[in-house]
Amino acid sequence: MQKTAIVCGAGGFIGGHLVNRLKSEGYWVRGVDLKYNEYGNNHADDFVQGDLRDPRVCESLFDRHIDEVYQLAADMGGAGYIFTGEHDADVMHNSATINLNMVHLATRFGVKKIFYSSSACMYPEYNQMDPDNPKCAEDSAYPAAPDSEYGWEKLFSERLYLAYQRNYNIQVRIARFHNIFGPAGTWTGGKEKAPAAVCRKVAAAPAGGSIEIWGDGKQTRSFLYIDECLDGIRKLVDSDFCGPVNIGSDEMVTINQLAEIAMKVGKKQLGINHIPGPQGVRGRNSDNELIKSKLGWAPSWPLEKGIALTYAWIAEQIKLQEREAEVAQ
Ligand code: NAD
Repeated sequence: MQKTAIVCGAGGFIGGHLVNRLKSEGYWVRGVDLKYNEYGNNHADDFVQGDLRDPRVCESLFDRHIDEVYQLAADMGGAGYIFTGEHDADVMHNSATINLNMVHLATRFGVKKIFYSSSACMYPEYNQMDPDNPKCAEDSAYPAAPDSEYGWEKLFSERLYLAYQRNYNIQVRIARFHNIFGPAGTWTGGKEKAPAAVCRKVAAAPAGGSIEIWGDGKQTRSFLYIDECLDGIRKLVDSDFCGPVNIGSDEMVTINQLAEIAMKVGKKQLGINHIPGPQGVRGRNSDNELIKSKLGWAPSWPLEKGIALTYAWIAEQIKLQEREAEVAQ
């Protein structure tokens, strides 16, 4: 029988791609989001435009048998959104309410499996002070000390899902994503993350110009291309392992190196101006030992391969915007 799934956050970056992946695997998919995917990157059989903070909207999603729920909706953004402190109350309230509603109603309507997208932002800040040796093994989560309210909400919700699994008859799968990027993601407007922001800055800069980077650029991160993230989600959901497990790349780079890769891909040699700005922890990298041992798999794409695909897409978006501006004049 055809499997059925709900993807919450289907109007967003990962959710849009996930809908298409599930469709390509033969699922019937219902997407739900506050908004439609702005790049049309969502081929759900049915799309509900609605607010998942409203339990009546959540309840309405279960008017037919649903095998799996993928809960990716969250009030989120890059460092410019999460680390300024200005959105803390909304981030906590909105995302927690969505998770409380969805796990409760999925359980009530007899859904077998629910996937939850947590984040590496839930790892303790004290293990991520040294940019060369960050510690993000899954069992290093406690004593908890995330560096943002976004991370605290993720930690709370992980525990919420696990409590439902313990007390009720629902299987839970939890992934901690580490910086997912790729085409059809937010690339401008303040909620974009480092790979998209850097690609945009490089693509938009005139030859011989320079780009701005927040902080000294020596902070480290790893970045995972969207297709590998989808591989990880699907392998996890189809496995017997509930997690939480990291889904991330372990190719750690500094933000300066990320900018160099974007310049290489864009064939531009630009200067880098380091300016004050929100940065998050000093170092972060995905520890992939657990995913290798439980799923026999880990992401393997070199960062440059994903940046090349993302850069090309963002350069195209910039051209489209310029053409639209010309037409409007
Ligand atoms: P995104 O912002 O593109 O997608 C999230 C979607 O949730 C958006 O389309 C938004 O409109 C929707 N949403 C927010 N509030 C809603 C509400 N009240 N009702 C209905 N829909 C609502 O983000 P993304 O990058 O696709 O991330 C998906 C998930 O993965 C999120 O839970 C995020 O916290 C998690 N995550 C992402 C990354 C990453 O690098 N992208 C890293 C760690 C964790």
